[in-house]
Amino acid sequence: MAAKTIAVLGAGTMGHGIAHAAMSAGYDTVLYDVSPAAVDKGKAAIDAVISKSVQLGKLAEADADTMRGRLRLATVVAEAVRTADVVIEAAPEQIELKLALFREVEAAAPEHAVFASNTSALSITEMAAVLANPGRMGGMHFFNPVHRMKLIEVVRALETTAETIAVMEDVAAQMGKETVLVKESPGFVTSRINAMIGNEAFNMLHEGVASARDIDKALKLGLNHPMGPFELVDLVGLDTRLSILQYLHRTLGEKFRPSPLLEQHVAEGRLGRKVGRGVYDY
Ligand code: NAD
Repeated sequence: MAAKTIAVLGAGTMGHGIAHAAMSAGYDTVLYDVSPAAVDKGKAAIDAVISKSVQLGKLAEADADTMRGRLRLATVVAEAVRTADVVIEAAPEQIELKLALFREVEAAAPEHAVFASNTSALSITEMAAVLANPGRMGGMHFFNPVHRMKLIEVVRALETTAETIAVMEDVAAQMGKETVLVKESPGFVTSRINAMIGNEAFNMLHEGVASARDIDKALKLGLNHPMGPFELVDLVGLDTRLSILQYLHRTLGEKFRPSPLLEQHVAEGRLGRKVGRGVYDY
């Protein structure tokens, strides 16, 4: 049975984007967050993306109205998931919070519903372990901003069934996204490679191989990367990058030891664009 209703848990940066993708794919969409203020903020962010599409002539006003009509807001988990065929979780990156949430979700969702976490790095197998039926759980790793980024990493945890994978892949296809299938492992494909490149860039800067501007220029013009590694880390946040590297170092070993220069930048409060200074000053 094809999914009709998607519940998205967490209405922040990723949750509102995922809900927007579900609405534009034609799903009845429920957006849940812990507070009314947070769901309202998520809804406003979705409205802004829809209005922009209308302005740009990518979406007819009538279709925009139909799309808006597909959204329901919720501040109680049980209500949010009661009719859901697929539940996509985009709550804060804290394992205890996600475990508690999935316990509540399983207690209230229909028997057939499939659960996916949008976690960047946490173990989906660990989340599945709190469920009576762990086979129904997998990962759907979206990218920011969701409406512009083409990829979803579909993650197979230890016990994720083939049916669960098929449902996640179908939802992704309906959303107009491409997928890659990844066995659960730290950083999946994208975060692991990205962390490695970003860390090596800091090591090279530390060694004086080239200036930050020239390392960025080399990757853009020589390797066709759309952004240089320092431009990108300034956007992502140096603290976020450091915490990903610390996790990969712990789980995958020495090759991910964070560059001392990155650690120094974070200690100095050079956290990136969000504070006006990172590798570059803004
Ligand atoms: P965010 O802080 O923007 O949003 C999180 C939302 O969850 C907030 O609105 C918050 O009110 C809400 N929330 C708090 N407690 C909750 C609970 N118990 N149940 C449901 N919602 C709750 O975070 P984000 O950047 O959207 O990240 C969400 C998830 O997506 C994280 O697991 C993160 O690792 C992952 N992720 C983030 C990015 C990114 O670029 N930001 C990319 C891929 C994956």
